[in-house]
Amino acid sequence: MALSCDVLVIGGGPAGSTVSTLLADRGFSVVLVEKDRHPRFHIGESLLPRNLPILRRLGVEERLRHIGVTKRGADFSGNATESHVVYDFSEAMAPDEPSAFQVRRAEFDEMLLHNASERGVQVVQETRVTGIELDADPVTASILGTDGTARQISARFVVDASGRDTFLSQRLDLKQRNKRHKSAAVFGHFSNVVRREGEEAGNISIYWFDQGWFWLIPLQDGCTSVGMVCDPGYLKQRDGDLQNLFWQTVSNTQGVAQRLENAQLLGEMRGTGNFSYQSTEMTGDRFLLVGDAYAFIDPVFSSGVYLAMQGAEYAAEAVEGILTQPQAALRHRRRYERRVRKGLRAFSWFIYRFTDPALRYLFLNPTRRFQLRRAVISVLSGDVYGRTRIWPQLLVFRLVYHVTSLFFWRQQKAHRARLDKVEHTVS
Ligand SMILES: Cc1cc2nc3c(=O)[nH]c(=O)nc-3n(C[C@H](O)[C@H](O)[C@H](O)COP(=O)(O)OP(=O)(O)OC[C@H]3O[C@@H](n4cnc5c(N)ncnc54)[C@H](O)[C@@H]3O)c2cc1C
Repeated sequence: MALSCDVLVIGGGPAGSTVSTLLADRGFSVVLVEKDRHPRFHIGESLLPRNLPILRRLGVEERLRHIGVTKRGADFSGNATESHVVYDFSEAMAPDEPSAFQVRRAEFDEMLLHNASERGVQVVQETRVTGIELDADPVTASILGTDGTARQISARFVVDASGRDTFLSQRLDLKQRNKRHKSAAVFGHFSNVVRREGEEAGNISIYWFDQGWFWLIPLQDGCTSVGMVCDPGYLKQRDGDLQNLFWQTVSNTQGVAQRLENAQLLGEMRGTGNFSYQSTEMTGDRFLLVGDAYAFIDPVFSSGVYLAMQGAEYAAEAVEGILTQPQAALRHRRRYERRVRKGLRAFSWFIYRFTDPALRYLFLNPTRRFQLRRAVISVLSGDVYGRTRIWPQLLVFRLVYHVTSLFFWRQQKAHRARLDKVEHTVS
């Protein structure tokens, strides 16, 4: 049987569930197609404080408290010592959201998808969108269930929230590797990882090592998510498997080695290759890309889910505008694009420099002068869409970074040479 709706949403991750719930709330008929069946594993477990107002608006805050670990901040450490520097969200320039949550994404995504269904979205799981005809009006999409059932859906508008599958971006040849950044990761869930004490127990911990950095994210039931993020070349030069390289790097990173001394892997280790990309277009006449379906840079500031959900809120506004005021469609599209780019830009400045010795020094030796530390914490909280005036402080921070780089030029040069060498060895 053919389906028809106002809006077809491809993908039931945080972006897809959010945009479809908000569009259903506005009275549109929405079909969301998800290729898997929730709950399913997904990486991306650490949320940001500014994500909470969105979750509140979706009406899931109470349910979230049952599945999450309270995260009051992030701590950073170098690889030669276990001492760490804490960035507490309550010190942000606008500290009205002083905490966030760490979640198992299987539970979090299921919660959001279930909520979408409760709010009137027609959710079709275990069904993949396999083809699309965007030039037709209405748009027609082909879908295929895991049981082999093939169907067509017609829709006035399509929102692509297919995550790193980048469904439309691939089909329309819009996807580009990020020229300024490349990253890969190996990660798993562990028991018996030592946690921080007291109020810091739920914080995310970040440890630098020469070729990248580790995350430690405390989850419920004594489980900790541990991941190693590095240049893709570093993974390729392994002499054993990914697990060997992971444990080798752990043993060379003192703070992580101490915390993982008695750790036991739960389930399997997973790896992902270079995941930094963006699309050359974000919208078209009858479609729009949201969340990872448009771009993903790097997990370091735990911004992915927040950018996806904030983008989804903006997308719902844009789609409503496009469908109800077709004469102003271009204006709605451009506004959406500007908003999404603003969030990405704020994080990317830090991401591109994160492994530079100068930025590492500034993070490990934060200054309270000119409220620089508070401004950086505001970024770490996700306050990047202009709600709070942090740009003067961030400009000063950038200036300080450039001056600091002059003092670190030898180390910066050595750092780049090390990365080039890894790349050269594997190419
Ligand atoms: C190593 C790593 C660590 C990360 N850590 C963090 C973190 O700590 N915090 C954070 O906020 N972010 C993190 N992220 C980023 C985060 O995972 C993503 O940014 C986030 O999941 C994006 O949400 P989304 O809804 O756009 O896409 P997704 O969550 O990927 O959802 C896309 C959905 O679309 C479905 N789909 C795909 N193709 C089709 C199709 N053709 N038909 C139907 N369904 C389809 C998929 O099954 C999936 O359910 C991390 C990313 C990586 C790579």
